[in-house]
Amino acid sequence: MRTENLRAAVLTIDLDALAENWRTLDRLTPGAETAAVVKADAYGCGIARAVPALRAAGCRTFFTAHPHEGVAVRAAAPDARVLVLNGLLPGLEGLFLDNDLVPVLNSLDDIALRSRQARNAGRRLPAAIHLDTGMTRLGLVDADVDRLAAAPDLLDGLDVVLWLTHPACADTPEHPLNAAQLALFRDWLGRLPPAPASFCNSAAIHLGAAGHLDLIRAGVALYGTNPSPATTLRMREVVHLQARILQVHRVDTPRSVGYGATHPVTGPRRIATVGVGYGDGYLRALGGKAWGVVGGHRVPLVGRVSMDLSTFDITDVPDRLAHPGALVSMIGGGVDIDALARAGDTIAYELLTGLGSRYARVHAGGAGVA
Ligand SMILES: *Cc1c(COP(=O)(O)O)cnc(C)c1O
Repeated sequence: MRTENLRAAVLTIDLDALAENWRTLDRLTPGAETAAVVKADAYGCGIARAVPALRAAGCRTFFTAHPHEGVAVRAAAPDARVLVLNGLLPGLEGLFLDNDLVPVLNSLDDIALRSRQARNAGRRLPAAIHLDTGMTRLGLVDADVDRLAAAPDLLDGLDVVLWLTHPACADTPEHPLNAAQLALFRDWLGRLPPAPASFCNSAAIHLGAAGHLDLIRAGVALYGTNPSPATTLRMREVVHLQARILQVHRVDTPRSVGYGATHPVTGPRRIATVGVGYGDGYLRALGGKAWGVVGGHRVPLVGRVSMDLSTFDITDVPDRLAHPGALVSMIGGGVDIDALARAGDTIAYELLTGLGSRYARVHAGGAGVA
């Protein structure tokens, strides 16, 4: 028996669509390298399968948040360049060296630490350096840049492979901070030792070619979402979550559905219960606001989302299409992930990275990948 048959829900990851999305973004940014951001287990899609598929498509550089994620990328792509965004933690230098991980240095202290490590290792070490042009999150700020520009020997022993900064408002194209951050970044780059530079996340790609610089850091768009209103380009769907109908209720006397009795049913209706809930990352905030697709019909989610169960009104769908065992698409397969996220007052990132470990994950496509 295939293991996906043991589970009430199947999460299908389309590796060919993932690879095609990488190629689409790469074509859109000629002259810039297209790196893939694969933090949070490749946005829920699985580093072990997503990284080889992206590597086979031509991607050479990968970003993770944490060092242990970098180790997983190294295992999946032995010849790739792996950068770790959250920086160099003291005590982990051996891990970085052993797995050939490049830390993104976020402060002058990080720079001093890496420089000391280079001295101890008796060789030059690669490093990326994050400049904070407006996020107030990670990276060197004005005063740090001034110091570094005045004392480039702080970089002794380091090969700076990338200067990067992160845009705060790229999904809001008209926001003045977009141009302000890019201008400040360019000004700082002019005062620092020359090295490749990177400004763009997925949404910023669509702000214009001026920001593409030497490398783009594509994350969420690779996984099939459309994070920018500045483009009509559609990414191919990568994630498809389907849940099996466990039971169908034929309601003919008035009653209510689910916790809090928030959804009253008066007329004759059919309510289907599926085995996916907020314990699987299907947000409780979607209660009463989302929809699924079964047998080609759009069906409203009714009542609250429980931990392990959700309920759909399938009255308008013929019995032969919606019956116990039939699959309801809950993300993808006609349920646009960006629209679903908006319905839940969140962003597709949160839906993707919240996809739990209870699903049978099926990786489709990825020819030539074990
Ligand atoms: C997460 C992240 C990205 C990718 O952002 P997307 O919006 O998912 O494309 C790029 N750069 C940095 C520094 C990040 O933290």
